[in-house]
Amino acid sequence: MKPKIRNIVDKAKAGKSIEAAEIKELLSWPALSEESFYTQFAAREMNRELNGGRAEIHGQVGVVTAACPCNCAFCSFAASNGIFKERSVQPLEEIMAQCRVLEQQGANAIYLMATANFPFNDFIRIAREVKSHLDKDSILVANIGDFGYQEAVALKEAGVAGIYHAVRLGEGQVTRIKVQRRLETMQAAHQAGLKLGTCLEPVGPEHSLDELVEKIVITRKVGAVFSGAARRIPIPNTELSRYGIVSEARMAQIVAVVNLATGYGIAGNCTHEPNVPGAMAGANVLWAESGANPRDTVEHTENSRGFDVARCRDIYREAETPVLEGPSLLYAPSHKTGSLGKVGT
Ligand code: SF4
Repeated sequence: MKPKIRNIVDKAKAGKSIEAAEIKELLSWPALSEESFYTQFAAREMNRELNGGRAEIHGQVGVVTAACPCNCAFCSFAASNGIFKERSVQPLEEIMAQCRVLEQQGANAIYLMATANFPFNDFIRIAREVKSHLDKDSILVANIGDFGYQEAVALKEAGVAGIYHAVRLGEGQVTRIKVQRRLETMQAAHQAGLKLGTCLEPVGPEHSLDELVEKIVITRKVGAVFSGAARRIPIPNTELSRYGIVSEARMAQIVAVVNLATGYGIAGNCTHEPNVPGAMAGANVLWAESGANPRDTVEHTENSRGFDVARCRDIYREAETPVLEGPSLLYAPSHKTGSLGKVGT
């Protein structure tokens, strides 16, 4: 193995921040090279020292299918993709039932997801109801469009612990949203005391190493409780589907590089869709899904692409990764980025 790679990996393991050029070097090796496996082994070892090695399963319920004017080319809700033409909101009772199922199955956090054009006040009403029907300690997270400080405060008051938000690959080019707008939303969330989960996504085969590096660096700068890497699922017959899909082997390498780049300061490292190579490479947040899903073309992803909690648990078992029981540590009120440290080892 090249000494250069060993030096970069060992630097990250020693708790030092690696440079953008070093992140790029790690990414430049083939997925099945010795260098890649050394990177993945190191990432797994680093995560074994964080959170006592206990991985989390986060469950998401998509509350609406709609044609969204933001037109993110990778999303099945993009109006330009023409898949969902009518707005269809799940009845509140069904949303609550799906959240309860995820909770009872053992999801460590429950997310409510809505398209960017979903009325904010309607979302708050749903979030309040769901929160009041979950166990007292359950963690509720919002995955919605961009918002300002007032909305962030309203989310907090509704019992939401945090948000999932990302500056996506191709932001502003294959989406109608500016990078700055995404960052402002994250800032508003922080100001209101909401925690932030983020990710390098949606990774496609056409993305250059420089773009991957640029977005990885953003994920470690935005004060997130977890980062990670997720691949793009091609929506059939859409503009981006011609590029195909990144292999799980390559994604495992990328998720490991993200982990080394974010270091011990960010305890969580997610991957999506759930898979064993990613979990073996240190991913410690996997996703169960119900209802609407921007990677799916049906209204109820639990009948299609969506994984349930048991399937995520199986993936962790195959990867020999223990799973946290109880509410998410990443979104816990006491968790400040980096504060989970090397606990439980
Ligand atoms: S990713 Fe979000 S903002 Fe973009 S089209 Fe889909 S729902 Fe709209």
